[in-house]
Amino acid sequence: VLAGRTALVTGSTSGIGLGIAKIYAEAGAKVMLNGFGKPEEIAKARAEIGALQGGGDAPYSAADLSKPEAVRQMIREAEGTLGKLDILVNNAGIQFVAPVDEFPDDKFDAIIAINFASNFHAIKAALPGMKQRGWGRIVNIASAHGLVASPHKVAYVSAKHAVVGMTKTVALEVAKLPITCNAICPGFVRTPLAEAQVGPLAKEHGVSEQQALEDFLLDKQPSKRWIEVDEVAQMALYLVGPGSGGVNGAALSIDGGWLAA
Ligand code: NAD
Repeated sequence: VLAGRTALVTGSTSGIGLGIAKIYAEAGAKVMLNGFGKPEEIAKARAEIGALQGGGDAPYSAADLSKPEAVRQMIREAEGTLGKLDILVNNAGIQFVAPVDEFPDDKFDAIIAINFASNFHAIKAALPGMKQRGWGRIVNIASAHGLVASPHKVAYVSAKHAVVGMTKTVALEVAKLPITCNAICPGFVRTPLAEAQVGPLAKEHGVSEQQALEDFLLDKQPSKRWIEVDEVAQMALYLVGPGSGGVNGAALSIDGGWLAA
C-alpha cells in the first residue's frame, strides 16, 4: 500500500522506530533510518530494512536530534537521497526519571530537545516539500504521558504533552491540504527504553522483576501486558496508508485501557 512513497523514521535503530521502518518497507515504501547504537546494530538494521526494499543497505542519517541544525540537515539529506519526503515519523526519544526538585537540568534540556523540539524542527523543514507535491503524512510518537502524567517524569510528560499540542496545531494549518499530522500515544511498549525501567523499580521496592513490572510499571495499564512494537507499527501504517486521510490532529491511544481508567 506504500509503493512509490518515501519515509524517514527517526530513532529507527531500535524499538518502536525500527518496527515502523520495517512495516513501511514491507508495505513498499523507501525508508531512511536514523538513530544511535553500536555500529553492528546500525549495520544490521540497515541491511534488514534494505533487504525489504530490494537489497543493499537502507539509507541512514546519524543526525543527533538534540541539535536543530542536525535535524534540518537530516531532512535535506532525506529529500536528496529518497528524491522526496512523503512521510515523516518523529519517533526518537529518551527517558529520565527523578523527582522534580532533584531533576538534573541537563537531562531536562535533553529530553525537551530530543522528544519535543526536534519534532518541530523536522516538521518545519519537511512541510514545504509536502505542500509543494500536494501530499504528506506526519506521525508523531507521543505517549500516554502526552495525555496524563505520572510522578518523577516531569521532562518526559511535559515534552509529550507539548508534542500532542504541536500535532493539533500543525493539523489545523494543513487541514485543507492532502496532508495529515497525527500523534500516537502508546502505553508501555516492550522496548529497551521501557524494559530498562523494570530493574531499578524491582531494586527500589525489593521485589522480583515480574512483580515490579505488574505492580509499578503496568499498574496504570489495565491489560497488565506490554503493548508490542508491531501493534504500534500497525497503527503507524494505518495513519499513512489509504483510507486514513480524514484522521487529522488526533492523539490515538494504544495503551491497554490506561486512558479509560
Ligand atoms: P528505544 O530506546 O528502543 O529507541 C529510541 C530510539 O531513539 C533509538 O533508535 C535511539 O538511538 C534514538 N535516539 C535517542 N536519542 C537520539 C538522538 N539524540 N538523536 C537521534 N536518535 C536518538 O525507545 P522506544 O521505546 O522505541 O521509544 C521510541 C519512542 O516511543 C520514544 O519517543 C518514546 O518516548 C516513545 N514511547 C515509548 C514507549 C515505551 O513504553 N517503550 C511508550 C510510549 C512512547
